Amino acid sequence: MVEALAVASGKGGTGKTTATLALGMALADRYDVTVIDADTGMANLLFHAGLADVETTLHDVLLTEDPVPVGAATYERFGMRVVPCGTSLAGFEAADPGRLRDVVAELADDADVLLLDSPAALDSKQAVLPVVLADRVIVVVQPTVPALSDGLKVQEYAAAYGTDLAGVLFNRVREDEPVERIASKASRYFEGPTLGHVPEDDATRAARQAGEPLLAHAPESPAARAFGQAAAGLDVRPGDGDRVADRFRSAVVPDRP
Ligand code: ADP
Ligand code: MG
Repeated sequence: MVEALAVASGKGGTGKTTATLALGMALADRYDVTVIDADTGMANLLFHAGLADVETTLHDVLLTEDPVPVGAATYERFGMRVVPCGTSLAGFEAADPGRLRDVVAELADDADVLLLDSPAALDSKQAVLPVVLADRVIVVVQPTVPALSDGLKVQEYAAAYGTDLAGVLFNRVREDEPVERIASKASRYFEGPTLGHVPEDDATRAARQAGEPLLAHAPESPAARAFGQAAAGLDVRPGDGDRVADRFRSAVVPDRP
């Protein structure tokens, strides 16, 4: 029984990786959680999860020739299974992102919740693959009008591939921001709930520097609490593992740009 959720946004830097690990840790209280760095071109989850020094990553699993089994790139950390991705250009070039379908299908066997830390979906056609594979997408946006518009494009892509919206997560919300106005706009345009408003919080940067997920580094920080509440409001809908795996294997891989 598994549900695959893509954590996505239109552009980079909105907090997808931070959110993936925070939601993953919070959900790990109730579910078997696997998080995977599906941002194979701009991987950075490894730095947030204390895995910067590991030898084997998703790149080795995605190799066109002699790939390693996904188990070799799966690490038990912070109560979750974590599949980090390498950061070298050579590793990216030797990898076949299309193989992500099989990897996700295999990981689905062992998890209740699969969180796919996704590339910025508007960067290239290929970048939308995790959104294509996922059952639902969590859109991480900053509470500004341009960011909302990017988020709506992600929702549009997702809908085009039959992926529903699990919810919208506002991140880096500053005290002076008109949250109410943005929230009412969001509820009008997004076809899913608002999962939460995560404040701008220095603890997030400190956690990243310490190589730890926010919920491990500063569990009582305002941002960590907000992520925890967002996870509590997420209605995980685990589907039939075999059927989900079949769907992943037969998903259409979007063309390169
Ligand atoms: P993405 O994966 O979308 O590119 P990251 O999760 O790597 O984004 O976050 C980008 C940067 O923003 C990081 O330096 C991170 O520490 C910072 N950041 C993320 N969320 C917050 C927040 N709520 N408050 C302050 N800084 C944040
Ligand atoms: Mg990221």
